[in-house]
Amino acid sequence: MTKVRAYIGLGANIGDARATLTAAVHALAALPDAELAGVSRLYRTVPVGVTDQPDFHNAVAAVDVPEGSDAGGPIALLLALKSIERAFGRQERFRHGPRELDLDLLLFGVRQLSVERPAMARSADPAKTDILLRVPHPEAANRLFVLAPLADLVPDLIPPGWPESVARARARRESVEGAAAVRPIAAWNSAGGAWE
Ligand code: AMP
Repeated sequence: MTKVRAYIGLGANIGDARATLTAAVHALAALPDAELAGVSRLYRTVPVGVTDQPDFHNAVAAVDVPEGSDAGGPIALLLALKSIERAFGRQERFRHGPRELDLDLLLFGVRQLSVERPAMARSADPAKTDILLRVPHPEAANRLFVLAPLADLVPDLIPPGWPESVARARARRESVEGAAAVRPIAAWNSAGGAWE
């Protein structure tokens, strides 16, 4: 079975965020035919957009998953991420608001993909996008809370469609958001399966 390396962004700011993200990494590792390939440091980050809410915890995990055919592989992974979010009690709230667990599919190998949501699955809520999946994640390049942990794992990678490496994008965003916006607070210990 051909595998592809996917990068998943993890975030939480309700309840015990560190425990939630640790359990979410284990859930990713336990997906069918998936293998955990790396976990970034854990970051404490200042909320973006809606600022009147608790700080977030963010990290990125690298997971080797089945490539699938056409859009099948990435969509299967997205649906698996959504079901992990639900299992962790994620409630539907407003965009950029507080969340028990947010999982974003940042990169799926070298694939560039945009898949529309089927008409019957569209929402009347205008805040909800009609795009089911877009990879690379369209906002990843402009979010320091994604770029900092992603740069821990693959600083020299130039994601498909990006003009620069992850490390350069990180430096660019850090000059805008300030170094204090994302603070590393723990490193992943793969033997213990936790951030320490
Ligand atoms: P949120 O969980 O608030 O970040 O928004 C998730 C919504 O964005 C879902 O409805 C997804 O179908 C859609 N989406 C589009 N591209 C992606 C992606 N690369 N990763 C996760 N969700 C995505």
